[in-house]
Amino acid sequence: ALESHSRASKSFTVNSPNVVYTPENVQAKYTYRTTSVDFTDGQYTATPKETVYDFKTERNVGKVGVMLVGWGGNNGSTVTAGIIANRRKLEWETKEGPRAANYYGSVVMSSTVKLGEDSRTGKDVNIPLQTLLPMVHPNDLVIGGWDISKMDIASAMDRAQVLEPTLKSLVRKEMAHMVPLPSIYYPDFIAANQEGRADNVVQGSKASLEHVEHLRKDIRDFKSANGLDRVIILWTANTERYADIIPGVNDTAENLMRAIKDGHEEVSPSTVFAVASILEKTPFINGSPQNTFVPGCIQLAEQHSTFIGGDDFKSGQTKMKSALVDFMINAGIKLTSIASYNHLGNNDGRNLSEQKQFRSKEISKSNVVDDMVAANHVLYKEGEHPDHCVVIKYMPAVGDNKRALDEYYAEIFLGGHQTISLFNVCEDSLLASPLIIDLVLISDLFTRISWRKTGEEEWKKFHAVLSVLSYMLKAPLTPPGTPVVNALAKQRSALVNVMRACVGLVPEGDMGLEQKLF
Ligand code: NAD
Repeated sequence: ALESHSRASKSFTVNSPNVVYTPENVQAKYTYRTTSVDFTDGQYTATPKETVYDFKTERNVGKVGVMLVGWGGNNGSTVTAGIIANRRKLEWETKEGPRAANYYGSVVMSSTVKLGEDSRTGKDVNIPLQTLLPMVHPNDLVIGGWDISKMDIASAMDRAQVLEPTLKSLVRKEMAHMVPLPSIYYPDFIAANQEGRADNVVQGSKASLEHVEHLRKDIRDFKSANGLDRVIILWTANTERYADIIPGVNDTAENLMRAIKDGHEEVSPSTVFAVASILEKTPFINGSPQNTFVPGCIQLAEQHSTFIGGDDFKSGQTKMKSALVDFMINAGIKLTSIASYNHLGNNDGRNLSEQKQFRSKEISKSNVVDDMVAANHVLYKEGEHPDHCVVIKYMPAVGDNKRALDEYYAEIFLGGHQTISLFNVCEDSLLASPLIIDLVLISDLFTRISWRKTGEEEWKKFHAVLSVLSYMLKAPLTPPGTPVVNALAKQRSALVNVMRACVGLVPEGDMGLEQKLF
């Protein structure tokens, strides 16, 4: 009986005087416990502290849409086919036998969290993360978007060479009607080898207010045509080069808006998309590594209290790195170098074969161990850092089957060494697509969450930079002045525990005292 009861994706209610359910909201009073540390006379003093918050989550998820920038790409076409396949509960034949649609690889849809212990048996009761708070189901998402290539999404799916022919034949008809909206294209920002794709572009090859207004209208039209309550915009278009940060151009919100008006050449298409989304009060997520969120863009999001999140999907190599390095350094092993090689043969790899676009990726892949190193001053002196090198090569033959080869070299007890070699072959778009779903679902959830310190009148939203998305992102953007957390386990527990707090549940803890003290 327990088996079936812990496996069913039941909803639950919290039985506590601190949690109130109304038809509209779940409201929880939550005591947040931290430890404040002082350093005096050569000694630390740790003082436990408590802050009481109210969290309020709207229960009605309504109708939600997602607009993908780069809809006709490998990720865009794959995530679209995947949602249709799930919505229609499709099954298809493969050489390994029949396969059915699933959401494997989505932390929201396919991972579980411990709700608590069964009151009779004491055994853990686990529930899908998706049922912790009212979240939109991906099957219900309305999908649309833009691409500089006018190919319909069914043909784009063929071009991507990701999915089985049997699956493609089942979704083709529906996807053939999906055609991306024309997009903005500033050739200087993506590799020259992409030019042949650009047959679906809005006039003008540098930033302008007309472009911002054009995209804003696209968002409004999509919303009204589909009767949507909310839309999330997500960049899964090509990796752009970095934009130079220039005082007076993109350093403040005001300067950025002026630079767009003046058609300044350092304003990228992705920044123009972000600005249009922010002005429409629509969350904007950046799945590529470039610095879309220049300081002026972050400030604009803060001024409009609109969520932004980024950068760069964390799918294969970096996800392994942020788990493995966390383990090594927390095990007291001194990691001294990481050598990372990749080769891939899809259009992303082709675009990254140009130096400026590669540089964006190199930056986002490089800083992923900094916080773990900085936290361990037993192993690393101030400023000391493992060597870290990242290489990416374009190898057309392997297509979307990206290869990532990593060597981790570490110093162990008394001058000895440990070397870990990893060979990670991952179907790139099949890892990235579920991340797109997670990013959309979680961003949408946070648009429905408000908080205040208990006793205050006014409800507020989380900070505009939605760092709770870090688990899905390679170079997590955090509110200005706050630390970046790359360690994968910490990122997951931040997400899960913030969600638990919203229903008044204590953080996930692994003490298991009930199994130790009796
Ligand atoms: P892709 O090249 O197949 O797709 C990108 C699409 O964007 C193309 O269809 C292209 O025509 C379109 N495009 C380019 N500029 C545009 C613009 N200004 N407006 C609208 N559309 C535009 O690439 P992909 O494999 O789908 O990856 C997409 C992005 O996600 C890349 O930047 C990649 O680096 C990033 N990413 C992917 C993964 C992964 O595992 N697949 C992981 C991390 C990051």
